[in-house]
Amino acid sequence: MKRMEEKILAEGVVMPNGVLKVGSFLNQQIDTRFLVEVGEEIARLFKDSGATKIFTVEASGIALAVVAGIAMDLPVVFAKKNRQLNVNVETYSSMVYSFTHGADTKIVVSKEYIKPGEKLLLVDDFLAHGSALNGLIAIAEDAGAEVVGCCVAIEKSYQNGGDNLRARGYRVESLAIIDQLVETDILFK
Ligand code: 5GP
Repeated sequence: MKRMEEKILAEGVVMPNGVLKVGSFLNQQIDTRFLVEVGEEIARLFKDSGATKIFTVEASGIALAVVAGIAMDLPVVFAKKNRQLNVNVETYSSMVYSFTHGADTKIVVSKEYIKPGEKLLLVDDFLAHGSALNGLIAIAEDAGAEVVGCCVAIEKSYQNGGDNLRARGYRVESLAIIDQLVETDILFK
């Protein structure tokens, strides 16, 4: 998506630890008009996927998932991080290693919201090593749901998470793919 690349070039900030900051439009402040366009692009890409629900993880996946959900007329479910849900609630969970925080995090979702046979479109802001999407896939498998695709705003291809998922047969679409982050330079595929 050309507009995503332009936005990253105009507003993205490369951090010394290989993290790209996009706090001005996606991760902290949200450029709402731009995100509506992003939602429409996700809907265009996955219009024939048969998805019945969008599944993401809090916090930074939610905005993207919601605009995609509106454009596709689908509900959105998000897994919660490091949270004990109500004791009476049955849950699915998995462990995710956070690239940005350098720690494992448990993600949890109530069994009420992911049912067997559900067709899930997974959405997140970034795809780096693939831990977040793999955590969502593990929950989908546990629930007997099918993953019909994965869509992220920004993939960092040199961290291989996307290629590993594609090699396992998942359809992965990234609205911008970064091949290299070199000091202050951002090179797209
Ligand atoms: P992965 O699990 O694929 O290694 O990393 C994806 C998750 O880590 C995303 O949910 C995202 O929040 C975070 N992440 C990974 N790389 C970056 C980055 O360069 N910038 C930001 N802002 N978040 C990142």
